[in-house]
Amino acid sequence: MKSKYVARIQSIETCGAVDGPGIRYVVFMQGCQFRCRYCHNRDTWSMSGGKEKNIAEMLREIQSYLFFYKPNSGGVTVSGGEATLQMPFVINLFQQVKQLNLTTCLDTNGCILRYNSELDELLNVTDLVLLDLKHMDEKQHTLLTGLTNRYTLDFARYLNKRRIPMWIRYVVVPGWTDQESNIHALGKFVSTEIRESVEYVDILPYHELGKYKWAQYGEKYDLENVSPPSADEIKKIKTILSKEYHLKIR
Ligand code: SF4
Repeated sequence: MKSKYVARIQSIETCGAVDGPGIRYVVFMQGCQFRCRYCHNRDTWSMSGGKEKNIAEMLREIQSYLFFYKPNSGGVTVSGGEATLQMPFVINLFQQVKQLNLTTCLDTNGCILRYNSELDELLNVTDLVLLDLKHMDEKQHTLLTGLTNRYTLDFARYLNKRRIPMWIRYVVVPGWTDQESNIHALGKFVSTEIRESVEYVDILPYHELGKYKWAQYGEKYDLENVSPPSADEIKKIKTILSKEYHLKIR
């Protein structure tokens, strides 16, 4: 039987600076339930892609880079794909990473279907959740990702109930996620329903860097004619969220 401490991994970034605080070892795991039209990690979707890696191997690598990861600040982020699809591996990895006095960070689309002891075990060893909210309107969310946003919103509420620190990540895609009404819905949700746990809202401009991967799969990239948002548009969105909803923006 395959050990539960082996996972399918797409890639690893040993000195990541954008997926959580400090310098981090970032693991991009295989498998995702969403099919975001702007996905820049198209190669992570399949559960059978990537390569198998075991925890011992990964820990040896993390320890060889300890010089870069500041204790209690830098650490390890699991991303994807959707890391919770390989939950037993992530729990064990995080447990061992915490023994090294490094912080643990879960980057997730929040599509959690089961609330059970395994999920709680994961959250017990997670210092920070980077929660991707793709769209506040359910229909638009489904059009953009292929699935409802209900699971993600419920997970956000659960994290807040447990007071697990969160950074909300929101990708601004012109014509898809930048409607003012949607930004207000985001501000209202964060400031009224999950305020206690949210440390920052990360506003991320859409980019086209992963577009080539779709071509490699022989697939059409639906956002072919969408350009990244302007600096002014990003500023306007940040201003709405900070001034009207008093949120800390990154
Ligand atoms: S959740 Fe992330 S990995 Fe999954 S399809 Fe969306 S952007 Fe891609």
